[in-house]
Amino acid sequence: MEDTGIILGHPAWGKESEVKDTELYAALLRLGAPWVVREVRLDVAAERVDVWIEEATGARWSCPECGQGSPVYDHAEERVWRHLDSCDCRTFLHARLPRVKCREHGIRQVRASWASPGSQFSLRMESQLIDTLKECDVTGVTRLRGTSWDEAWGIVEKAVARGLARKRRRIPTYLCVDEKSFAKRHRYETVICDGERGTVEYVVEDRRQESLEQYYRQFTPEELAQVRAVAIDMWDPYIAATQAYIPGAEEKIVFDKFHVLRTVNQAVDKVRRQEHKVLMERGDARLKGTKHLWLANEENVPEWRRAEFQAVKGTHLKTGRAWAIKESLRKFWTYRYAQRAADYFRRWYFWATHSRLTPVVSAAKTLHHYFRNILTYFRHRLTNATAEGLNSKIQMVKEMACGFRNREHYKTAIYFHCGGLDLYPRLEEAFS
Ligand SMILES: [Zn+2]
Repeated sequence: MEDTGIILGHPAWGKESEVKDTELYAALLRLGAPWVVREVRLDVAAERVDVWIEEATGARWSCPECGQGSPVYDHAEERVWRHLDSCDCRTFLHARLPRVKCREHGIRQVRASWASPGSQFSLRMESQLIDTLKECDVTGVTRLRGTSWDEAWGIVEKAVARGLARKRRRIPTYLCVDEKSFAKRHRYETVICDGERGTVEYVVEDRRQESLEQYYRQFTPEELAQVRAVAIDMWDPYIAATQAYIPGAEEKIVFDKFHVLRTVNQAVDKVRRQEHKVLMERGDARLKGTKHLWLANEENVPEWRRAEFQAVKGTHLKTGRAWAIKESLRKFWTYRYAQRAADYFRRWYFWATHSRLTPVVSAAKTLHHYFRNILTYFRHRLTNATAEGLNSKIQMVKEMACGFRNREHYKTAIYFHCGGLDLYPRLEEAFS
């Protein structure tokens, strides 16, 4: 390995053998030719280091546009970039970037090797801020790193733009499509995920046929033909969009476990609400505060509430019956063969439709109506499981979203946290 260490000095050596602060910073900053550090100022009271960078004498420049060697025309105004801290001192880089006169492109400013164009942060600082932004919300970053909200958010936006520009156009083999509510008031986003990679591929306003078609339209018919399966909710606009664009959609659409159970869960909740109302009129508060007990998978009911749940389940409520019907449906996805699963569903359907619980009956009928593409699960084994992991991540983004002033911000944040994008600035880009 090449020894790149620098010995900074030793009391036994003479003054002349010590490394100067400017050389130290040139090394710390990994400044290569033609840049040198002219001056370093440390203000201990202000906990601040300022570093002035300039070009070495006799430096040669080329036009940033075409690479043609060009003479220096003048120097731009001094600019300042925030860099990584030096110990606990905020560190700022200063430079007056040369402007060259290209025969073809006229007067152009050369690019700094330590920052991407237009950024007020050095590349290293920007990368570190991206790391921090991945771990906490924008407001948290402003507190930790002392940037303003707009500066931190600007980094998110630039990182996403960069990531999307670098992203290769490809349609995933397995798609998961889901709707997400945005804020309240029934506004929705359609979120399209890669079922294998677990990344968000596309976010589009609304949950209309047109919303999903907007995504499909980016691809050629040959690319669309490569899609093997699409997991969606039993939502007619998504079905129509998929049928219109994906060849052989009839066999490829999967109404997956997550969405099917959601439909039945909504029915359980409806039964609970109706029953709770009736009970409360009689002064019976048995169902109070039990909503989430009925909606969780049985094994996920928290330990400390199990006794309470057992007690209320034992009291022959309608809600308990609805819950048992919902829980038993989960067995459907454990079968190995489609035929066996279909037989199981038939028995379940008979039970559900004879339950005299109106919401459960109508949920069962919905499943029956869409059954053909519930059964396609056994061909593709596609569930929204990856997307479900993503769901909790998106939920987290939403919870951090108190700072999102609009829908575009929300979308950008989803791409930033869940898009699997290459977000970091790179030196080549500063030169290219
Ligand atoms: Zn040029």
